[in-house]
Amino acid sequence: MTKTDTADVSATVAQIHELEAAGCQIIRCAVPDEKAAYALGEIKKQINIPLVADIHFNYKLAVISAEMGVDKLRINPGNIGDLDKIKTVVAAAKERKIPIRIGVNAGSLEKEIKRKHGEVSAKALVESALKNIKILEDLKFKDIVISIKATSIPITIAAYRMLAKKVKYPLHVGITEAGIPRIGAVRSAVGIGVLLAEGLGDTIRVSLTGDPVEEVRVGYEILKSLELIKHGLTILSCPTCGRCDIDVEAIAEEVEERTREIKTPLKVAIMGCEVNGPGEAADSDVGLAGGRGVGLIFRRGEVVRKVAEDEMVDALVDEIESLAIK
Ligand code: SF4
Repeated sequence: MTKTDTADVSATVAQIHELEAAGCQIIRCAVPDEKAAYALGEIKKQINIPLVADIHFNYKLAVISAEMGVDKLRINPGNIGDLDKIKTVVAAAKERKIPIRIGVNAGSLEKEIKRKHGEVSAKALVESALKNIKILEDLKFKDIVISIKATSIPITIAAYRMLAKKVKYPLHVGITEAGIPRIGAVRSAVGIGVLLAEGLGDTIRVSLTGDPVEEVRVGYEILKSLELIKHGLTILSCPTCGRCDIDVEAIAEEVEERTREIKTPLKVAIMGCEVNGPGEAADSDVGLAGGRGVGLIFRRGEVVRKVAEDEMVDALVDEIESLAIK
């Protein structure tokens, strides 16, 4: 999701281009007012990935967004108000053949459902989702995507499991308000990871308090960790111990920074010592192991080069790039 003022077209487009370069495949923009809704038309023209309009309550903003050519609407019909307004939004989506994502969120659960259940729970979230689905289905609209997000990971997981047994619509999964990057990445990986490992989830969003590019990077790491996709480098590095001869952390950070643009799937290992390094990382395509004053470059566990300590990062990056070109 973009974090710019949507009405500021140039800032929003610039951020989307950055996200596209990081591998983002679908982008959502908040639409708080008409200025933002009308800006979507120009934004759509300047980007290369599908654009989702994120709307709360105001049906007019959904209609304008649809007219501006967005590819999906995120709006909860139950929050729009009377039936005529919902019908207007559904007609706009039908006319342009765009899906509607029902985005149930623990923070904005309907009051009556909250009252009935006494607290936010998986059952309450699923009841809200089913209620919203029924509104659309009654209007013969079935181009639906659903998300049910909560800050509680056990509640989110339970809700998706429960919902997946009841409906067959695509699921967008994420952990909302996951936190600052280090904490949010772990929380997202646990929540999204469990669901994806069970085969639940068609699109994902990592929500971090910070740079949205980091959200995309974390999303890819989750997908790569579960071996659901092959994309760019997977950089493994040892935790270091008393045998360590090099600054593994600094080297791994530098290598990651310098090879971010590479899309070829390669496993790279950075290991602190030559005693265990190449052997422990034998299934890596390429790697570096520290030695006293030297670095050993290895491929699939076999040492191919020995370089001076001050040349080892360059040597490793060269090896990676030579494999990436092929
Ligand atoms: S690779 Fe070497 S330095 Fe790294 S943890 Fe293993 S034994 Fe220790």
